[in-house]
Amino acid sequence: MSDDHGHDHPKHELSYYAKRIYAMRELLVEKGVITEKDIQCQIEYQEARTPANGANLVAKAWVDPAFKARFIDDPKAACAEIGIDATALNEFVVLENTPQVRHMVVCTLCSCYPRPILGRPPDWYKSFNYRQRSVSDPRGVMREFGLELPDDVEVRVHDSTADIRYIVMPMRPAGTEGWSEEDLAKLVTRDSMIGVMDALPMLPE
Ligand code: FE
Repeated sequence: MSDDHGHDHPKHELSYYAKRIYAMRELLVEKGVITEKDIQCQIEYQEARTPANGANLVAKAWVDPAFKARFIDDPKAACAEIGIDATALNEFVVLENTPQVRHMVVCTLCSCYPRPILGRPPDWYKSFNYRQRSVSDPRGVMREFGLELPDDVEVRVHDSTADIRYIVMPMRPAGTEGWSEEDLAKLVTRDSMIGVMDALPMLPE
């Protein structure tokens, strides 16, 4: 199949950078710097880190005021309490949303993100568009995610760096009194912990 500018694109063709990465990987293994097993272990470790970590932290904080206080006071220690290894983070800060103040997280420079807590960042988080507009028009960005904030709610935008990473603790949705931690965690989306939207108001189907 030829495309509209007249040449073929095999679907499996690797980009220049992908080829370069594979070549480096082969060389590192060949020279004994790392092993294939190291690479597999690292991939598994990266894949094991998902937004479920953050959702579990937030849900526990919602139901347990003492844990919430510890989570805000010493987030890395609170992570360790429930078996999440956040030691790779330098400084880790919890931003608590309130009816008066909403927090939103960006890395204007590149793509700094609390990976041990939320896994890999979504592509939009790394986009120039988000990095620029989250600062110039955070309310507009939230609106596009479906969150329309009244004018009297303050929005604070936090710029992540290599030294400091953030998680937003969204507000617990109304009508969830008595819910289990497990069900509550299902309401805590990745995007609500970046701060571009609220926690879901009801369980996903
Ligand atoms: Fe960055």
